[in-house]
Amino acid sequence: MLLLGIDPGHGGTNTGTIHGEGANKLVEKDYTLELGRLLYHSIITDMAIHTKVKPFLLRTEDETISYSRRAAQAQELGCQLVLNLHVNAHIDSDLRGLMAFHWPGSHTAATGAQALDAACPKALRRTRNSVFAVGEAEWLRAARSIISKYHCPSILVELGFATNPQDRSYLLSTLGKLRLVQALKVGVLAYLEDTQYV
Ligand SMILES: [Zn+2]
Repeated sequence: MLLLGIDPGHGGTNTGTIHGEGANKLVEKDYTLELGRLLYHSIITDMAIHTKVKPFLLRTEDETISYSRRAAQAQELGCQLVLNLHVNAHIDSDLRGLMAFHWPGSHTAATGAQALDAACPKALRRTRNSVFAVGEAEWLRAARSIISKYHCPSILVELGFATNPQDRSYLLSTLGKLRLVQALKVGVLAYLEDTQYV
């Protein structure tokens, strides 16, 4: 049985990125929580996976919780993998697609990140690299600072770009959310197979 921490990024006063207007408005802290909840419910109601994976939501409400506290909670719960969910933003609104970050040297986390990326919905597929080991380069540092807090392997997923109109409307669509949940589950199962927790 794999104990999985699902960690919706941001929350409370830490809103994360906010883009768009009206029905097309994406608020990162709300979106990560919604997707985290969908993933949690999808796992516990899926016959094929719920006997192998026990999920925990590391943030269940719109509240400000430091990543250190979440990491401590994940450790208390005995989590063996944490999925940390985010939405990307960039000054260049042409940038789009899902990106997955893992700790360098963690073979299992890399496998999970690659499988998750391979299962990524077509609409969110990047044409260039989309799986990265976190490192010292400036743009990798934010992901590194979060991932390094967990005691166990973790994958930080930037689900898509809120600053790209196509990504944003796909992320907000019912189909987009369903497909993303499926991709995340594929990543978790690949991780599980690789670590032989089954
Ligand atoms: Zn974020």
